[in-house]
Amino acid sequence: MSIDLPFNTAMILGSFEPLPPGEGVDDTPGFLALLQGASLIVPVGTPQALLPDVSLPVGIVMETEPLRIGLWEGRPLRVARIATDATLPAEYEALPFQGTDIRLDNVLATIAGRAAQILHWERRSRFCSHCGGDLVRIPGGWGKRCRSCGDDHFPHIHPCIIVLVRRGADLLLIRNAAWSVGRFSLVAGFLDFGESLEECVQREVREEAGIEVTNIRYVASQCWPFPSQQMIGFLADYAGGEVIPDGVEVVEAGWFHEDALPASPGGKRSISRWIMDTYGKSAGSS
Ligand SMILES: [Zn+2]
Repeated sequence: MSIDLPFNTAMILGSFEPLPPGEGVDDTPGFLALLQGASLIVPVGTPQALLPDVSLPVGIVMETEPLRIGLWEGRPLRVARIATDATLPAEYEALPFQGTDIRLDNVLATIAGRAAQILHWERRSRFCSHCGGDLVRIPGGWGKRCRSCGDDHFPHIHPCIIVLVRRGADLLLIRNAAWSVGRFSLVAGFLDFGESLEECVQREVREEAGIEVTNIRYVASQCWPFPSQQMIGFLADYAGGEVIPDGVEVVEAGWFHEDALPASPGGKRSISRWIMDTYGKSAGSS
C-alpha cells in the first residue's frame, strides 16, 4: 500500500513528472523550489505558491545553480539553495517542511523534501569516496562517475525501520534522549549489515527497550528526506521480557494504554503519527 503521506511521490502525482537532472538544458520559465535549511522560500501571504523562477527578487543570492528535477504542471521545476543565514527580502518568508510547523501544505512540503534530498546528494557527491577524485554525472540519472578511478556512485538512501509494538491494549513507546520530557514515540532504527528488515525490527526493539517481539508485519513506508531515509513501518506483538530502556539512546521506555497516549515529538507529517493513528487502537490493528 502506498500511503498519502508527505514526501511520498503519491502526494504530488498528477502535477509532478520527474526527469533526469538538467543543468542549463533549457531556459523555459518554470518554478523554483528554493530552500533555506529545512524551509521552503515562499511569497509572504501566499504560502501555498511555488516561486516563479523568472522573477526572483533582488536580494536573494542562491548558493547553488538551479537544477531542473522535473516538470511541475508541465513546466520546468528547478531546485536551489540559499545560505541558512541569508536575510530574505520582506516580501518572502521561509516556511519549515520539517517538524511540527505545518503552515506549508503537504504538496509543497513534499516538493521541498524532494528538493532537499536531491540537494543533499548533490552536495555530498562532488568527490569520490574511494580515491578522492572529481565526480561527474552519469548521463540520464542521478548517479556520478569518478574521473580518476571510474567508480560509480549512486544516491545514498538509508533504510530505517519503525515499529508499533502491542501487548493487548498497551503500546510500547520510547523517549529518545534528544526529545523533550513527556514526549514518546515508536521504536525506530537503521538497518545493519546482514539483516533482514524483520531482524532489524527485533534487534532495535531488543536494544532500545529490552523486550522480544513476534508476528512482525509490514504496513507502509515513507520517504523521509532528513536527510535521506526510507522509513519502513511495521507492527509487532510482544513476545517476552521486561521493558528496560538502553539508557543511552533511549532514556525512557514503557507500556502506554491505547486510550491514554502521551504527546509525540513527530509532526503530523510522519509515518510514526500515521501508524499510531491507523493502528494505535485495538479495533484498527490487524
Ligand atoms: Zn575515484
